Amino acid sequence: MTIKSIIVGMTFVFFAASSLAAEKGPSIEELMKPAPNPAWNGFALAGHSTTKLADGLYAFRNTGTRSIFMVTDDGVIATDPINAETAKIFRAEIAKVTDQPVKYVVYSHEHWDHVQGGQIFKDEGAQFIAHENCVAHFYDLPNPNIVMPDITFSDDYTLELGGRTLDLLYFGPNHGDCMVVMRPDPGDFLFVVDLVTPGGAPLGFMPDYAPHHYLRTLKEIEALDYKAIIGGHGAMLSHPSAVTERRQYLEALMAATQQAMASGGNPFELHKEIRVSEFAHLRGYESRIEDNARRMLAFYGIGW
Ligand SMILES: [Zn+2]
Repeated sequence: MTIKSIIVGMTFVFFAASSLAAEKGPSIEELMKPAPNPAWNGFALAGHSTTKLADGLYAFRNTGTRSIFMVTDDGVIATDPINAETAKIFRAEIAKVTDQPVKYVVYSHEHWDHVQGGQIFKDEGAQFIAHENCVAHFYDLPNPNIVMPDITFSDDYTLELGGRTLDLLYFGPNHGDCMVVMRPDPGDFLFVVDLVTPGGAPLGFMPDYAPHHYLRTLKEIEALDYKAIIGGHGAMLSHPSAVTERRQYLEALMAATQQAMASGGNPFELHKEIRVSEFAHLRGYESRIEDNARRMLAFYGIGW
């Protein structure tokens, strides 16, 4: 499929289905252009919005974080509740779309900036689903604001409700060790949390990212057939080339780090010279490159 046909297809999906207020920011055509794409930086950080992406599929954003939900004839599948305040808004937004109860809440991974505040859904009887590795983290660092999963799985998992399906794709460790990428039927979209922030450089010290597994995971996502990423942060929708751009950035950073180490010098100073200037267009590059380099120096220096 050509890029143009993807854009045309996506435009149709979006405009044919959209009934709620679209997110303020770049148009769908702009967002669906491939990397490097300045439109991916034009997202809103204030307030909240709910956008219908396709039949029964919605994106919900509060400030800088996004979840998705699916409406079926037998109830609603919601994802990351984020925190108590956001979950309350999330529940109210779902109620604007359907009277159906929330039957399931799916966690993308174990990090607290995505999985707190689920009690409002638990109170209406929702069952919580997460990869089994998340459970150990929740016991290791107890957080009273996190509802424990009722259903766990060890590999990929397909959640079925009301004739709809949500695939939870597990790629092994990458960002944490219980991350799932979600694929609502019929497969046009991937909901990707934290593995890709389209148009941006990775977060400072790349917390909880295992570089080699991260790289492998991005390659595996690149091999999937889909049309658009729904981002857990940043742009609501982006072209699949956002995954490629992140993979190429990591590869360039890893190569530059190895090169700097091979040339000698004080390993505690090398981060000041490691640069991947061909990616200087990425949002946050200038402020993050040295911390990104420090992360790679730890990876190659001590195997962590
Ligand atoms: Zn995370």
